[in-house]
Amino acid sequence: MDQVKIGRFIQMTRKEQKMTQREVAERLNISDKTVSKWETGNGLPEVGLLLPLCNLLGISVNELLSGERLDEKQYYKRAEENIMNLMKEKEEAKKKIILTVLTIIPCILAGVTIILLAGLVELSVWVRILLIGIAFVVIASGLTVACILDREAGVYECKHCGERFVPDMKGYIMGAHTLTLRKLKCPKCGQKSYCKRHLSR
Ligand SMILES: [Zn+2]
Repeated sequence: MDQVKIGRFIQMTRKEQKMTQREVAERLNISDKTVSKWETGNGLPEVGLLLPLCNLLGISVNELLSGERLDEKQYYKRAEENIMNLMKEKEEAKKKIILTVLTIIPCILAGVTIILLAGLVELSVWVRILLIGIAFVVIASGLTVACILDREAGVYECKHCGERFVPDMKGYIMGAHTLTLRKLKCPKCGQKSYCKRHLSR
């Protein structure tokens, strides 16, 4: 989906309706920064806002996602494309999260098994040390791969300005987090906040 084109289309139809960004924001109960973000192509409205926004702008969701008005002929074809695109985006993010779990669990299991073996089985000291060393390498590489995959799954949204971004590796690893929130510094406004993760942009 072409976010810049969609943004221009939102701006154009908003002006046709003779509304300001603030008015649109008030009607949708969101900040005017969020509206400005959409119009500059820095993010799409979340699914729950699509229909109310389109009603305000006097367009269909299909037209919004296409970034242009559609005649009857184009309508059906574009609808199919848009649905497939939306599904693909979510699916890819989900796949990465599943892959993350599938990487982490076997690595930790393998690591723990090796450590147990090293402790329980009659072995010379240096073999034990070697095994424990290997166990740590296995666990550490599992965690590294998991971090790389997880960081790329979806985007984080700044609480202050609504910017959506993929954090850099250092910020990602150092950031305190829960399952869906992570404390990150926003690249746009520079403020730190607990950013919510979204599966699609
Ligand atoms: Zn920000």
